[in-house]
Amino acid sequence: MCRTKRIENGIVIDHVSPGKGLELYNLLKLNHTDCPTIIIKNVDSRKMGKKDMIKICDIEHINLDIIGYFSSDITVNIIQNQKISKIRNIDLPEYIKNVLYCKNINCITSVEPEIDHIFKLVNRKNKKYACVYCDNIE
Ligand SMILES: [Zn+2]
Repeated sequence: MCRTKRIENGIVIDHVSPGKGLELYNLLKLNHTDCPTIIIKNVDSRKMGKKDMIKICDIEHINLDIIGYFSSDITVNIIQNQKISKIRNIDLPEYIKNVLYCKNINCITSVEPEIDHIFKLVNRKNKKYACVYCDNIE
């Protein structure tokens, strides 16, 4: 059962920067799930002024690496039988897979289309990632 107001089981991604909800939805590849999903745009937020939210019913796992990479302000609410557990301050991940794409034409990822694009965090302060194959920084 999925109603728009209160989710019994699922995940609510809260405190997304206003206007960024759809971008995060695409990064998380939520279009590949059959779970009922609601994207809420530009709602009032005490903390942020305005914010976006994504509510996904009947989903158990979400890629926290992508969320941590996207924004450290995001709160993930995991809801099981209406009980909510919150995950806050999600760190930048050490590695991200298939989020950034290497633009170096000599990189193996340019030659082998099937290979995963993996980037390693090289500078946490400036949020810089380098391709693990060729060290190209994106
Ligand atoms: Zn590369």
